[in-house]
Amino acid sequence: MSELLTPELDAKVANTIAVLQQAAAENSDTGLVFANSLGAEDVVITDLISKHTPQIGMFVLDTGRLPEETLKLLTDVQALYGNLKVQVFYPEAADVEEYVQSNGVNAFYESQAMRKGCCFVRKIKPLKRALANRQAWITGLRREQSVTRDEIGFKEFDEGNGIDKFNPLADWTEADIWAYIRAHKVPYNALHDQHYPSIGCAPCTRAVAEGEDVRAGRWWWENPETRECGLHSGAPANKDEAKPVNVMDFLPK
Ligand code: SF4
Repeated sequence: MSELLTPELDAKVANTIAVLQQAAAENSDTGLVFANSLGAEDVVITDLISKHTPQIGMFVLDTGRLPEETLKLLTDVQALYGNLKVQVFYPEAADVEEYVQSNGVNAFYESQAMRKGCCFVRKIKPLKRALANRQAWITGLRREQSVTRDEIGFKEFDEGNGIDKFNPLADWTEADIWAYIRAHKVPYNALHDQHYPSIGCAPCTRAVAEGEDVRAGRWWWENPETRECGLHSGAPANKDEAKPVNVMDFLPK
């Protein structure tokens, strides 16, 4: 048992390592990948992968709208964990050009449909490329994060992407995450110290007030039950990858 963690958290750490090892055992090195958002949960998984299952590769989605603090953390993680395989995926330039020229650079504030359109171009399509030909992926989702995540399992089938999905931190609490980060001196996003518990793109993330839900600062202008970007909600892929995205093609009619 770690001298810095409680027995309960130590047991969760052991289970998380076991889930990572199970994922690695069930899949080839190229068939399995960790989707690293660089959030507090994901720096914990990064640390555990580096120490216990470094054969697991990972990717980061750089949407082009990430905060400077997130980009600095990416540089720090790559420098600190030399044994990790980190790939960075970007949106297609033609998709971004079409969305911005058709709708405006900050159209996501205008409606949920426009917001989902931006997330599709900057996150979902790059995710589809990152997950192409994979058998399984790993995420840092936790049950207590939101009403849309309260039933996730350690392993489940991701119907939207047609592959297995491992959530090794499913039963961790926010306090567990920070206890691990402090105990192991894991690098984390500086915005967390400025009341940003959940961090996404800069224009769609704000600080939260004392007592607010941890995801209250994400797409704060929308209903809580719709606050997902589609990365974890089985959003449909644009089947015609060669065709530039027209936002109206995939927005709800
Ligand atoms: S979080 Fe905001 S800026 Fe980022 S992809 Fe979604 S709508 Fe666009």
